[in-house]
Amino acid sequence: MLHVAVVGSGPSGCYTAQSLVQLDHEVHVDVLDRLPCPYGLVRYGVAPDHEKIKSLQGALCTVLEHERVRFLGGVTVGPGGVAAARLRELYHAVVYCVGAAADRRLGIPGEDLPGSWSATEFVSWYSAHPDAVDGGFLRGARAAVVIGMGNVALDVARMLVRGVAELSGTDMPQAALDTLAAGRVADVHLVGRRGPSQARFTTKEVRELGALPDTAVLVDPAEAALDPAFRDPSGLPGPLRRNVEVLRAWAGRPPHDAPRRIHPRFFLRPVELTADGAGHVSAVRFERTAPDGHGGVTGTGRYEEIEAQLVLRSVGYRGVALEGLPFDAASGTVPHRAGRVLRAGAAAPGEYVAGWIKRGPTGVIGTNRPCAKETVTSLLADATALAERDVPADPLEGLRAEGVDPVEWAGWRAIERAEAELGASLGRHVAKLPDWDALRAAARRAAT
Ligand SMILES: Cc1cc2nc3c(=O)[nH]c(=O)nc-3n(C[C@H](O)[C@H](O)[C@H](O)COP(=O)(O)OP(=O)(O)OC[C@H]3O[C@@H](n4cnc5c(N)ncnc54)[C@H](O)[C@@H]3O)c2cc1C
Repeated sequence: MLHVAVVGSGPSGCYTAQSLVQLDHEVHVDVLDRLPCPYGLVRYGVAPDHEKIKSLQGALCTVLEHERVRFLGGVTVGPGGVAAARLRELYHAVVYCVGAAADRRLGIPGEDLPGSWSATEFVSWYSAHPDAVDGGFLRGARAAVVIGMGNVALDVARMLVRGVAELSGTDMPQAALDTLAAGRVADVHLVGRRGPSQARFTTKEVRELGALPDTAVLVDPAEAALDPAFRDPSGLPGPLRRNVEVLRAWAGRPPHDAPRRIHPRFFLRPVELTADGAGHVSAVRFERTAPDGHGGVTGTGRYEEIEAQLVLRSVGYRGVALEGLPFDAASGTVPHRAGRVLRAGAAAPGEYVAGWIKRGPTGVIGTNRPCAKETVTSLLADATALAERDVPADPLEGLRAEGVDPVEWAGWRAIERAEAELGASLGRHVAKLPDWDALRAAARRAAT
């Protein structure tokens, strides 16, 4: 009988555990997470107003409640927690599903000015991630620039213009709800360095912008038409063509106004963030780009500024090296072959990866399911050799000997109850607990 540790309880960790118990009728799986709460970015990334996607937590919950799966929250693997090498001694196999939580940087002057944030920081704050800081994101901001043209850029743009009536039904923490409700951001500029046919968002998500109450989406037809495929999208693959059709419909509308406005902007490459007299970001300077004929863009030497008191950078995620595991800094992933971790080019028996740390930060939640299955297939092909290793009967004792005191499933359930109670006390359905102390206190209630 194999005892497997899965590190990370996001989609890839849960799908790995699910595949393991489905394909091997004896295996026992411990799903470890540094947070006391499961589900990774489904809880701490997916936008709160995307309730249907959030409800995937129900399916992941069923996995973690399986009789041969055990959730162990509050267990960090790496510095300050359990070393990867020690974990390896406690289990027959370890599958790393730790995601890719760091944000990519623009690498331009002014990027770190007050008022300039990564989308990750903003998302973590409104999602109540316990490591998030309340940066006073909206303080005095009337205009925001969101740099990037992916779904996360759309998420943050949407959150900036949504009103309290739409947000109070979500599980957003109360402080973020109050701040967003009181926000005065009227203009959100969503800026990409390439054209409409190269935007990375999906049609469903971009179309949603057009349905936001009291919000106009304003597309400049002349700017969008710098992209030849905007004028004639018929040759584009279906998903890209549909994106362009949505943008063309907005571009063709007669000018209209609304209390809040979203401005998708194209062919603008950020070159510098500039500050006001107090040192706070006040504008983003862009270079106008043009298609280079090979799917990329080239600078034109013409510049323009967009005024903004809030800048959110959403130009992608990247994985972080985990002490004790090989890492390819260029791709931000752990080198692997069909999920088996490669050390000096050779498969390291007993160590596996799945999800974003395996393939990079791409795809939707469902993409992690076949990814996890591939890894589990490799692991189970190695099972005979893995089972020969001597490991403790219950690795939990070994973990405790390392000084960790895991939050088990009952603790997580107690957190959920506390969030429902807090929500009820605020006249809401659920309000997330936003800090470590509150989460730990709620989890302790399960123990007493
Ligand atoms: C802002 C945002 C919004 C998104 N919205 C959508 C959406 O609407 N629809 C959609 O289909 N996809 C969406 N995605 C993509 C989706 O969230 C990812 O495909 C998915 O979460 C990747 O799963 P994962 O398990 O690899 O990583 P994650 O979900 O990031 O899970 C990793 C887990 O590992 C834990 N962990 C990390 N390091 C350690 C450690 N050292 N020790 C212990 N535990 C550790 C983390 O706490 C976390 O729980 C979104 C992504 C982002 C960033």
